[in-house]
Amino acid sequence: MRTTIHGYPRIGGARELKRASESYWGGASTAAELDAVAARLRREVWETLRDAGLDEIPSNTFSYYDHVLDTAVLFGAVPGRFDDPNTAEDHATELERYFAMARGAQDAPPLEMTKWFDTNYHYLVPELSPRTRLRLSGSKPLSEYTQAKGLGIETRPVLLGPLTFLMLAKAAPEAPEEWSPLELLDDLLGCYADLLGQLSAAGARRVQLDEPILATDEGRAALGSLERAYQRLGALDDRPELLVSTYFGAIGTEALKLLKGTRVEAVGLDLVSGPEAVGELAGVSGLGDKVLVAGIVDGRNVWRTDLGNALSRLGSLLGLAHEVAVSTSCSLLHVPIDLEAEAALPAELRERLAFARQKVDEVVLLGRALSEGGEGVTAELEKGRAAAETPLSFTNRRVRARLDALGEEPSRTGYERREAATDSAARLPTTTIGSFPQTSDVRRARADHRAGRISTEEYQRRMRAEIDRVIALQEDIGLDVLVHGEPERNDMVQYFAERLDGFATTEHGWVQSYGSRCVRPPILYGDVSRPEPLTVEWITYAQSRTQKPVKGMLTGPVTMLAWSFVRDDQPLGDTARQVALALRDEILDLERAGIRHIQVDEAALRELLPLREEAHGEYLKWAIGSFRLATSGVAPSTRIHTHMCYSEFGRIVGSIEALDADVTSVEAARSHMELVGDLKAAGYRRGIGPGVYDIHSPRVPSVEEIEEALRNALTAVEPERLWVNPDCGLKTRGYAEVEPALRNMVEAARRVRAEPPG
Ligand code: GLN
Ligand code: ZN
Repeated sequence: MRTTIHGYPRIGGARELKRASESYWGGASTAAELDAVAARLRREVWETLRDAGLDEIPSNTFSYYDHVLDTAVLFGAVPGRFDDPNTAEDHATELERYFAMARGAQDAPPLEMTKWFDTNYHYLVPELSPRTRLRLSGSKPLSEYTQAKGLGIETRPVLLGPLTFLMLAKAAPEAPEEWSPLELLDDLLGCYADLLGQLSAAGARRVQLDEPILATDEGRAALGSLERAYQRLGALDDRPELLVSTYFGAIGTEALKLLKGTRVEAVGLDLVSGPEAVGELAGVSGLGDKVLVAGIVDGRNVWRTDLGNALSRLGSLLGLAHEVAVSTSCSLLHVPIDLEAEAALPAELRERLAFARQKVDEVVLLGRALSEGGEGVTAELEKGRAAAETPLSFTNRRVRARLDALGEEPSRTGYERREAATDSAARLPTTTIGSFPQTSDVRRARADHRAGRISTEEYQRRMRAEIDRVIALQEDIGLDVLVHGEPERNDMVQYFAERLDGFATTEHGWVQSYGSRCVRPPILYGDVSRPEPLTVEWITYAQSRTQKPVKGMLTGPVTMLAWSFVRDDQPLGDTARQVALALRDEILDLERAGIRHIQVDEAALRELLPLREEAHGEYLKWAIGSFRLATSGVAPSTRIHTHMCYSEFGRIVGSIEALDADVTSVEAARSHMELVGDLKAAGYRRGIGPGVYDIHSPRVPSVEEIEEALRNALTAVEPERLWVNPDCGLKTRGYAEVEPALRNMVEAARRVRAEPPG
């Protein structure tokens, strides 16, 4: 093997899988029709990779919804609520059950969904318990392998590894407290053994087992299980060669030494997210007689590889393994499919980009350069080098000079003095998180404006009418701090990316987020600046319609970075400061226009937290610094709010205080307000708005239930610092639920306020 990749996007260049599965879910097409689309997409990927000249082509990287769910179903980890003993197990019912696990069914809530490591892809969390009977009960890897073989294409089936599967699973509620899914390891290894036997019988020469969990602290600590798993699989008589592939970070010398000691034939390392892997390899004196699959082409970002540099790094690995193969750092699932589809990007930027298809070419080219010696490919390498080395002309000297002048961490007056500077000490003020339901009228107005079907004046008229409606409704409901409702925003990151210099947006750069849902992350390629105000017009218009305060609404620097493809020629922290500076100007403009409450959403603060604890300090320093840079310019009496979409703060709970916001709203309804106490225990002393009801469900909460949540919260926080709000923005809900829910919320706050303090 000279060249390979870990996986390729599976949704199709025109999002064919999205359309086909949504049509199937809606009853407009049959399982057979969906299967036909899937088979065609798989074939297209294999043929693309073959024609590109890749030596080893992965299979079983396709999924109808999610590869972790595939693995759960493959090994029979199906929770009882999805099993209907009365139905025959034909393919169509299997597919129904599969989608029920992903999306829920009547009386059977779906599996929980969460982030795949530190990416924006989401997987379904398998539920395991001592009662789970693991057994090989599917044939997906085998049938995809034979499909490819039938087309004359030899592939390497890709499986999620046993350790990662178990460590990403959660213990089902019926499992005893101290039980862990890892207790199923031996059973599970038996299933892998059966599967490997079948694949070997079908002719598979090598199988890839993905173990990204080894890049996390927990995975690195599970050395015993790692050893047990790969000693046993390595020792099987009847098996294909095994490639244990790791990614999203280095795995440490201990794990490396351990893998080296097993009989697996190849190990994959991510040299992009974990450049220290090279030192670790040297530390264990190389991989001996194994193949090193060197992940040198970045699978998570959209920049062209500096091929010259990559080649010399590859060269330095040659002595450290029996053979070195060139690969991507991880699956290409995380990047858009083809740059060729982007005609509208500035040429100078396009030159610098590589999407999945282009990255495959880079891998192939590097493989040739490595084995043929540089000569045959010098011209192509040179071309790549020239593109990579041309300095980007997207530098903004003024932004850089201003940031230098500002210094590290400007800060505000102390919180107590700020609190004293605000006019009212209202108890339990009520507010919302920003967005109101995005009705079809609102969406249509945005689409019509974008397509030029309505004039800008007409568009503004419609948006203002919507703002009027949302303001009037909030006054009627009796909320205290109002919002404009965000009707003009398609997405909380894209809206700002389209208006800031230094960002580009793509036309077709779709990346799978979960299931059929795809996002088009903007590309942050140059110095960021704000050519003109971003939100001031809408917010001040909303403020002009009411005597009550209107809260301005912005997306914070960390979240802007987390949901974009970000330039990699400077530290993330430097880029975050540029975004922060633009937001700082916006915030000052809002303040100057009379806005007294400004919310800076940091939905992704925890998400971007590095996988390894040793990197947390540095991350939090720039993440918090950029938030403070954005927000510290305002007067003591202006209230800075922030919002985070989750309550499991874990290791960052102590950092919430450091953001120095006046009010922090968080998800809390599902965790019964526990986090209020957690935050307090971690030293948080400011305003807090624990979400009093779950907006992810269409259910309307009762007044009593919200009252109880508030009384619960009041056991840990003073009434002057307790804000009353839902869990998150309301944009995905309908007015039929939102209006009664907010009325109940306001009534609950009124009742609790009326009670004597203490
Ligand atoms: N202000 C945004 C909204 O209300 C926040 C969304 C989010 O946190 N994901 O929609
Ligand atoms: Zn939220």
